[in-house]
Amino acid sequence: MLEVRDLAVSFGRIRALNGVNFSVDGPEIVTLIGANGAGKSTTLRAIAGVAKPSRGSVVLDGEDVAGRPPAQVVSAGITLVPQGRQLFGSMSVRENIELGAFVHAKKSDVSADIDKWVDFFPEIAEHLSSRAASLSGGQQQIVALIRGLMARPRLLMLDEPSIGVAPIVVRRIGEELTRLSREAGVPIVLVEQNIAFAFDIADRVVILAQGRDVHTGPPDPLRDPNVLARYFFGDVAVTRQPAAPYVERSTPQ
Ligand code: ATP
Repeated sequence: MLEVRDLAVSFGRIRALNGVNFSVDGPEIVTLIGANGAGKSTTLRAIAGVAKPSRGSVVLDGEDVAGRPPAQVVSAGITLVPQGRQLFGSMSVRENIELGAFVHAKKSDVSADIDKWVDFFPEIAEHLSSRAASLSGGQQQIVALIRGLMARPRLLMLDEPSIGVAPIVVRRIGEELTRLSREAGVPIVLVEQNIAFAFDIADRVVILAQGRDVHTGPPDPLRDPNVLARYFFGDVAVTRQPAAPYVERSTPQ
């Protein structure tokens, strides 16, 4: 359903992505991991249209959305729940959630969707009128998740949902994401620094290093720290051409 091919992004002279490839095949959870600066967030941002790709394609169900503005990518069916959640703290939880529905404006649809997702995440029901800032980190992450789902995505992406969430609640978030993909059939792409969490919920793991995908596969073999370290920092250059961290020219290719 999603095919990312040869995705490249440059910020001036900095080549953040230099050919990222992966796919999502139906309602599975694909987790992107890698060292700091490997290009994980930029990959999500490029798919979402927030960062402009200099080459490559992002094909969702046969339609290439690469390079489209963010609102058009949302309309096409891809939603990004950003790092840090970015809720409006002084607005109510309901108002924050409603913002996610900007692509389909019918009020009756919005209310029905809120009811549906509050049934799915019932712990939010009693907080709908509360200020978003008054909720715990874990509850805020659920609100950001519901806001993303309000766009009725065919693919949901999350950038580090475990950040700022108490360790005991991280497991809960993982269970909710798994339920979302299994029961509601929502395919999920996730960026995570919390490796244990990433492995626990992933159907497949994509490892990025120096702006490229260097490995894709199931999580279990990667639980060996030596294997993981080799992909993160090690002899990537043996199997793939090393990525050049800087481009020669100041304009994107
Ligand atoms: P982290 O885990 O530290 O967030 P990451 O794997 O998500 O890392 P990115 O944030 O995607 O990595 O960054 C990839 C590279 O692109 C890094 O070298 C980073 O400094 C650079 N970069 C990212 N965003 C920008 C930007 N807006 N302007 C300039 N350089 C950027």
